[in-house]
Amino acid sequence: MNKIVVFCGSSLGFNPIYKEAAITLGNYFVNNNIGLVYGGGKIGMMGILADTILAKKGEVIGVIPKLLEKEEVIHADVEKMIVCKNMSERKVIMSKLIDGYITLPGGFGTLDELFEALTLNQLHIEQKPVGLLNINGFFDATLLQLNKMVAEGYLKPANRKLLLVADSVEELMLKMNNYNPPKVSHVINKVVR
Ligand code: AMP
Repeated sequence: MNKIVVFCGSSLGFNPIYKEAAITLGNYFVNNNIGLVYGGGKIGMMGILADTILAKKGEVIGVIPKLLEKEEVIHADVEKMIVCKNMSERKVIMSKLIDGYITLPGGFGTLDELFEALTLNQLHIEQKPVGLLNINGFFDATLLQLNKMVAEGYLKPANRKLLLVADSVEELMLKMNNYNPPKVSHVINKVVR
């Protein structure tokens, strides 16, 4: 994989284990020549991840909506910064740049981005690996919710499998590298974004 978008919190969280996970992922990207695409912020998990990669001269591309382009938010050291119109355009730009998605702990913004990526894959608009780094069981409750959606008939088991989950960076990257997208059997793959 050449470039991966990482969705993660604009906050750091209370437990340092999450910050450590962002650093581990950043180091993995640098060591494996994977470029980071992310939300362009200097704060929280986003800032730690970008700083880790920039410190080792790795590739970082920020995509930030005009609304967030304020000094206290935007990462001034990221040279490749794409400023876009709004949050929706940001997602489209990001998805065109990347070969896969990874989600780290975060809040509403992070979950919004994760579920948009899953929906794009569910509709076969895209066929890219979508990974979730379940550090410290952070996403256990989210995964339980997905299982409930399957059990109650709202989420197809095949679509549940679109989400690749691991509790370490190495294991997650292994799953993403070995990902075989489901075969597209119906016309919905003709949907244009
Ligand atoms: P949240 O999980 O609510 O902290 O939101 C984080 C996600 O939403 C990131 O992946 C970003 O793409 C986006 N986002 C939210 N807040 C910001 C911000 N202040 N600066 C840049 N991106 C942000």
